[in-house]
Amino acid sequence: MDDKKRARLIFSKLEQNYFSVPLLFLDYKTDAQMLCAIILSAQSTDAQVNKVTKELFKKYKSVNDFSNANLKIFEIEIKSTGFYKQKAKRVIECFNIIKNNYGGKIPLRMSDLISLPGVGRKTANLVLANKGIIEGIAVDTHVARLARRMNFTNFREQFKIEKDLLKIFDKKIWGRVNGLFISHGRRICVARNPKCNICFLNKRNLCPKKGLK
Ligand code: SF4
Repeated sequence: MDDKKRARLIFSKLEQNYFSVPLLFLDYKTDAQMLCAIILSAQSTDAQVNKVTKELFKKYKSVNDFSNANLKIFEIEIKSTGFYKQKAKRVIECFNIIKNNYGGKIPLRMSDLISLPGVGRKTANLVLANKGIIEGIAVDTHVARLARRMNFTNFREQFKIEKDLLKIFDKKIWGRVNGLFISHGRRICVARNPKCNICFLNKRNLCPKKGLK
């Protein structure tokens, strides 16, 4: 079976099993909060970020709120998401650029987004997908791991993995791949000791389990 056909079948099985998966597992109310939450989620877990933003977002809601944040106070407020000094600096810089260069509106072009501090293709893809604009596939640690195990890529770099996935999956479903892979990666295809014995992809012979003993 060729990779494109296998990818279609895998996608359909994942959709059947995780039909209610959201586009984003992070909590937010405004676009500014969405972008902040995604930046904070780097090297952290969505659960930890949601715990922090539950309080944080009572205080910070708009682009102005984030751009006017006091660096030292913001560092303390986001500390438990890890790498807090770097993240605090990036969030405040990022929102200052949005305020000064984009009229206070989060830009919705890939090239503009990835020019912002703390925003790479993964973050940009998630922001765009949540605004209904699909330009790529957001590759995080789950997507990268599953893509390698499914033998859709041999790479470790996010950008190269994304390029491989874009060739294999149909464009109309790019926006759903991240959420579905994350769900499967959390429940069954976990990082250590994946549960291949109960995996519905294994039962259908759809996964070569590359790299696993
Ligand atoms: S068969 Fe194993 S390696 Fe493949 S997707 Fe399922 S759990 Fe992951």
